[in-house]
Amino acid sequence: MVKRAEPYRIKAVEPLHMTTRKERVEEIEAAGYNTFLIRSRMVYIDLLTDSGTNAMSDRQWAALMVGDEAYSGSESFFHFEKAVQDVYGMPYVVPTHQGRGAEHILSQVLIKPGDVIPGNMYFTTTREHQELAGGQFVDIICDAAHDPQDLSPFKGNVDLGKLEQVFKEVGPEHVPYVSIALTVNMAGGQPVSLENLRAVRALCDRYHVRLYMDATRAVENAFFVQEREPGQSDRPIREIFKEQLSYVDGCTMSGKKDNLVNIGGFLATRDPEVFEAARELLVVFEGFPHYGGLAGRDMEAISVGIREMVDDEYIKHRVLQVRGLGERLQAAGVPIVLPVGGHGVFLDARRFLPHLEQEQLPAQALAAALYVQGGVRAMERGVVSSGRDPVTGENHHPKLELVRLTVPRRVYTESHMDVVAESVSELYQHRSEIPGLRFVHEPKRLRFFTARFEPLRPSPVFQA
Ligand SMILES: *Cc1c(COP(=O)(O)O)cnc(C)c1O
Repeated sequence: MVKRAEPYRIKAVEPLHMTTRKERVEEIEAAGYNTFLIRSRMVYIDLLTDSGTNAMSDRQWAALMVGDEAYSGSESFFHFEKAVQDVYGMPYVVPTHQGRGAEHILSQVLIKPGDVIPGNMYFTTTREHQELAGGQFVDIICDAAHDPQDLSPFKGNVDLGKLEQVFKEVGPEHVPYVSIALTVNMAGGQPVSLENLRAVRALCDRYHVRLYMDATRAVENAFFVQEREPGQSDRPIREIFKEQLSYVDGCTMSGKKDNLVNIGGFLATRDPEVFEAARELLVVFEGFPHYGGLAGRDMEAISVGIREMVDDEYIKHRVLQVRGLGERLQAAGVPIVLPVGGHGVFLDARRFLPHLEQEQLPAQALAAALYVQGGVRAMERGVVSSGRDPVTGENHHPKLELVRLTVPRRVYTESHMDVVAESVSELYQHRSEIPGLRFVHEPKRLRFFTARFEPLRPSPVFQA
């Protein structure tokens, strides 16, 4: 069988609008050179995010019809709760409108002002909610994660020395929980090994600190464990997945990723006290505990998605499709983060645009230029996304300055991936013409979503 052939066939199609270069030049200018502000109709291949962009299966669409829309005691909630209990192995489940709803609740329940939350690299919304609750995020990821050319197989791993250092410096009583993400989005979708997870658990136990997981892409993580960790190749994904979750006290989840739906999320825990406190906040911020911001039909679709996501054939195709795009770009000499992660290919904007300083926002400029080149929409993950230090007001300067080509699940074909690879390679030939950008509008929080920019100089890259 062809290695990357799709393990599904297409039952419904969504026709796309094909744009001209002139239309795209006008669109990017109107969008303030921020790919978040481009109209979807003007995009040919949308790799902005893998969040909520999944294609649902025929079974998920069928499940929508049996949603029980009762305010309380909804049958759909019990299906959802059962799916989380079966697949994640967590007894207590709180539905939320999406992942950040769960992060908000967990942060408010556990974090006190002055607390420190160690994590394997920050994620935008996660850190924001930790800070809103008065906490401070500290990075404890291994150094390899910050090096886009380091080929280590588990670049999401926690550096145990760094974690222990935090416990000793601030005192474990000021660490409400350690937050471990599988895979690590901001490092390029890099996985964590089972061995590392076990060691983190042991260290947390020694200091009596809770361990919570951002399980957003833990299925993709399980595939890497199966592929790379000694002794794991014969185990089904479902089993590896559950073992990963067995090491943590609970998890927050964005259903818009692994769970194969367009909206939804949850907080799950083994701790009855955290569960009770979470339910009290849930009724204030999300909704009654039996729907928490979701419709009954949403919970039905997630229940089916949770069972489909641990199918070995599905997840193998998912990760290999992403890797295939990376291989095509590498063959064209384009600098990318290696090894290719689970949900997307990350262009290394520092090496792509060596003529630009980080203050000239190279990744933002590259994403804008790629849209004009081929109608491909990507996202900046660099200095713009990491924001400013809340204390000093200075820009954070992350080591990684990346453009993320995120692949939605079950949506695009191999031919689409060819078009993406061609567009990026063509742009790479003209890379020296890409100018830097400057802010013309800068929001205070999560600025990357709605900021506006302008080019530092006129360039053919942004002309028709
Ligand atoms: C998307 C994401 C979240 C937040 O989830 P939403 O559903 O977008 O609110 C949290 N953590 C990671 C790693 C994510 O990728």
